[in-house]
Amino acid sequence: MLCRFVDENLIGSPDLHLMAPDGLKYPQPSIMYGRTDIVSVTPWLAPVVWEGTFNPVILDSIYQKKNISIAATVFAVGKYIMFLKNFLETAEQHFFVGFRVNVYVFTDRPKEVPEVKMAAGRELIVRSVPSSKRWQEISARRMELIQTLIEETLLNNVDYIFCLDVDSKFHSRWGTESLGGLVAVIHPGYYQDNRDKFPYERRPSSRAYLAPGEGDFYYCGGAFGGLLMEVHQLAKTCHKNFEDDAKENIEAAWQEESHLNRYMWTNKPSKVLSPEYLWQDFKPRNPEIHTVRFSGVIKNYAEVRPH
Ligand code: UDP
Ligand code: MN
Repeated sequence: MLCRFVDENLIGSPDLHLMAPDGLKYPQPSIMYGRTDIVSVTPWLAPVVWEGTFNPVILDSIYQKKNISIAATVFAVGKYIMFLKNFLETAEQHFFVGFRVNVYVFTDRPKEVPEVKMAAGRELIVRSVPSSKRWQEISARRMELIQTLIEETLLNNVDYIFCLDVDSKFHSRWGTESLGGLVAVIHPGYYQDNRDKFPYERRPSSRAYLAPGEGDFYYCGGAFGGLLMEVHQLAKTCHKNFEDDAKENIEAAWQEESHLNRYMWTNKPSKVLSPEYLWQDFKPRNPEIHTVRFSGVIKNYAEVRPH
């Protein structure tokens, strides 16, 4: 049997060669029947992940064999520390359960990081960062810190990374179906809109500029990820473009989110996650959303953000 035995050393990326264990039984797949209320592939043939388009049993058994490990980054600066407990506790219940996960918390209040019991193989790592007077600055610095974390700590230790907003919590499974080279999440607020309504940066002087008629989807800055090297390239590019803009006194409309959207226009994500992967608690659930997996909690901006 060809390809029965694979030399792991030759298969460089955990994203390649999807090998299922022997003896796995599951319902027969079909290319004729399935969900018809949503689109589950982009025009460049990246899957769009929706409930009902994947079988978690197949995916988990493929990735268990690979013994992958996943890093998650979350920033909890200033009063946003109040969101951390819920984020971490629900991540334990729903985020890559049964896999090796390292959660990196960046905060200016390390003493206030809650004690959360982590399952075996899962770890919480706290990194101190300075506090900030402007919330835009906190958001902007994320890309730089992610870039540095990858270079200094994660290289050679971790396969995938996801970067997530702290003012959110998990409600159901977020797992191996989300793995891919470059992974973007569709923003829940704009997926039914015409692209001309997307809040992209519209000033040509910014490096985040997207012209009318450009852009595939509006992706959210609150969740993205993928293979380590892909996310490194993204973080490095967005950080540099943000800094170069700043030197010319320009700040993109939605800071890193604008730069992320500009990046994804040129560098197409190899997997796209539906708005199930970042809903908002204040939004009634639309009929095509069968499962809310992760969603932003309702917050009082005036209360939590520095002024
Ligand atoms: N953040 C933080 N402290 C702040 C502002 C922002 O730690 O004072 C971090 C936090 O992780 C937050 C993310 O930056 O989830 C993005 O900001 P925010 O959630 O306020 O943006 P929104 O989701 O409302 O667009
Ligand atoms: Mn948020």
